[in-house]
Amino acid sequence: MDPQDRQQLGAVYKAWDAAARDLKALGLSPPVKVRIEAAGNAADFQARTGEPVNIAASTQGAVIRTQRLSALAARGLLPNTVRHEAFHTAQPAGIPRWLAEGLARTFSGEGKSDPRTPTGLEDLPDLRLNTELLGRDPARLNAAYREATMRAARLVRARGWKGALKW
Ligand SMILES: [Zn+2]
Repeated sequence: MDPQDRQQLGAVYKAWDAAARDLKALGLSPPVKVRIEAAGNAADFQARTGEPVNIAASTQGAVIRTQRLSALAARGLLPNTVRHEAFHTAQPAGIPRWLAEGLARTFSGEGKSDPRTPTGLEDLPDLRLNTELLGRDPARLNAAYREATMRAARLVRARGWKGALKW
């Protein structure tokens, strides 16, 4: 691992420990053993995950694949990215994708910096929002993540976290 990336490991572990504690408080259990694979650069990340370049990380089961750690840190995204992916490792099985992404972004705090402008997807049924979240067009994908986050946050406000998780 590049020394610049290695320097970020402390921040990764710190964010993970805090996330695991907060998840447990919500009644969720992150796996005991999680592997974090940090890419060496953006092309490497894309090759490992098949995700578009504007995605910070991707989780499958207990394996979290991230963009280069120093790149995430330079953009101020590292702690929230770890929290977001930690949520995915612990989310209830079977919740729909829009809710999983919306709750992950609410849990991580990423939703707080979303612009408050309309997403243009307000009337889209939840199922169609799932489809939008699989899209590869960065601008549309961004709107879909924001919309999912607004719906999930609304659900948390109405039912609390435990209610929102019992979808
Ligand atoms: Zn996610």
